[in-house]
Amino acid sequence: MDVIVIGGGIGGLTLALALHASGKARRVRVFEAASEMRALGIGIHIGSHAMKELSALGLEDALVATSSQPEDYAFFTRHGQLVYRRPFGKAAGHPYSHLTLLRPDLQRVMLTAVRERIGAGNFTVGHRCTGVEQSGGRVTANFSGPDGKALPPAEGDLLVACDGIHSAVRKQFYPGEGPFCFRGCNLWRGTTLRKPFLTGASIARIGARNSTMLINPLRSTIDADGNQLINWVCEIEGDVAVPVDWNKPARVEDFFANFQDWTFDWMDVPSLIRGADQILSYPMVDRDPLPRWSFERVTLLGDAAHPMYPQGGNGGAQAILDAAALALLLQTESDPVSALKAYEDSRLPATSKIVVQNRTAPPNVILDTVEQRTGGKRFDRLDDVITQDEMKAIFEGYQKVAGYQMRQDTRGSSSPGQAGR
Ligand SMILES: Cc1cc2nc3c(=O)[nH]c(=O)nc-3n(C[C@H](O)[C@H](O)[C@H](O)COP(=O)(O)OP(=O)(O)OC[C@H]3O[C@@H](n4cnc5c(N)ncnc54)[C@H](O)[C@@H]3O)c2cc1C
Repeated sequence: MDVIVIGGGIGGLTLALALHASGKARRVRVFEAASEMRALGIGIHIGSHAMKELSALGLEDALVATSSQPEDYAFFTRHGQLVYRRPFGKAAGHPYSHLTLLRPDLQRVMLTAVRERIGAGNFTVGHRCTGVEQSGGRVTANFSGPDGKALPPAEGDLLVACDGIHSAVRKQFYPGEGPFCFRGCNLWRGTTLRKPFLTGASIARIGARNSTMLINPLRSTIDADGNQLINWVCEIEGDVAVPVDWNKPARVEDFFANFQDWTFDWMDVPSLIRGADQILSYPMVDRDPLPRWSFERVTLLGDAAHPMYPQGGNGGAQAILDAAALALLLQTESDPVSALKAYEDSRLPATSKIVVQNRTAPPNVILDTVEQRTGGKRFDRLDDVITQDEMKAIFEGYQKVAGYQMRQDTRGSSSPGQAGR
C-alpha cells in the first residue's frame, strides 16, 4: 500500500510514524506546504492518552527530555484565591505523563523520527496540495509550489488529509462551509522566562468567563539563574475575532488592561506578561462536526477533520489519537476503503463530542460557577460557595469526554480512557 499524507504537522507526522511501525504500508510519503520546517508555534499540551500512542512509537524519552510534566492542576479566582487543586498526569495515576512543551520541540522530535524511519526523501516540503482526484482504485494529489506554480502530481493507493485548520482537501469535499464559528473570545499566548511557580510542575487556571488565564511551565529544566520557560494563555471575551493564524504576532496593549491588577502572592501576572519574549493571538474558533470524513480512498484527520477550540489540550492530542486509530485499522482491515470507513465510524462521533463539549462545558466551568455565585467578589469560606464533590464531578466530567480519564479494564489494571477506541 502506497499512502500519501498531506501536511507535516502533528497529525501527519504521527500517522507517518504509525504507518511505518505497522509495516502495512509499502511506502509513506508526506507532502508539506511550508518550504522549510521552521520552529513555529509556542506551547502545546499532549495528554496522557496521546502520550500512550507517542510512547508506543518510541518517542517518550525524547519528548520527556524537552518538556514539563505537570503534576497538579490548580484553579484560582481572579483574586488569586485557590478554589480546587487535583493531582494531574502521572501524579494522578496515569501510566503516561501529560506533557506541556513548545510545539517546535514536539515537531522537531517527531520530524527527526519521521525522516529517519520513512526516509528523508519521502518527506517533501514546498508542496501545497491544491486538490485530489480518484479513479481506478488510485488517488492523485495535485500540488503547487511556494511561487504558486503547479508541481508534478503524486499518485498512491490512499490519501490522508492532515492539512490543518485551513484544509484544502476538506474544502474540496465541503466547498460551502463558510467562515469558522467564533465563540466571541480571543486568545493571547506568550512565553516568559521566570522563576518556577507553585510546585514548579503546576498548571494554573485563573479567572472566569470574560477574562481567564492558563499558566504552566514548558520545560522542567531550570537555567543557571533559576528560571523556567513559562507558557501563558489569556482568554478574553470580545465581539471581533483576530485572524485564524497560529503565528499572528500581538501587542501587549491589546489585552493587558484585563490583567493589570492580577498580582497574587504566588504569581505576578503583569510582570509575567510584560516579560514575554513573544506574544501571539488566536481566536476561539471551531467548525460544526461533519457528517462524513472518508470518501473512498481519501480521508480527513486532525484539525482538517474536526477543528475544535484550542483548549483542554485537545487539538494535538485528538490528531494523535486519530492517526493511531487509522494506522491500526489499516493494519487489521483487509480492504483499505473499509478501513477508512471504520476509522470514520470510530473517530468522528468521539471527536464531535469534544467539539460540542468545548462549546458548552469548557474546562473553566468550575471557575465560572464560583464567579457566578460570588458575584466576582472574594469569598470568605469556599465551602459556602461550592463543594469539593461538585468541583470533582465537573473536573472529571470534562476529562472523561476528552478521553483523559483513567478507566479500569477487565484485568483490573488501569489505563487512560480513549474516546472512540
Ligand atoms: C504553524 C503552526 C503553529 C501552531 N502553534 C500552536 C501552538 O502554539 N499551540 C497549540 O496548541 N497549537 C498550535 N498549532 C495547532 C496544532 O498544531 C494543531 O491544532 C494540532 O496539532 C492538530 O494537528 P494537525 O496535524 O491536524 O494540524 P497542524 O499541526 O496544524 O498541521 C497541519 C500541517 O499541514 C500543513 N498544510 C496546510 N495546508 C496544506 C496543504 N494544502 N498542503 C500541504 N500541507 C498543508 C501546515 O503547514 C501544517 O504543517 C499550530 C499549528 C500550526 C500549523
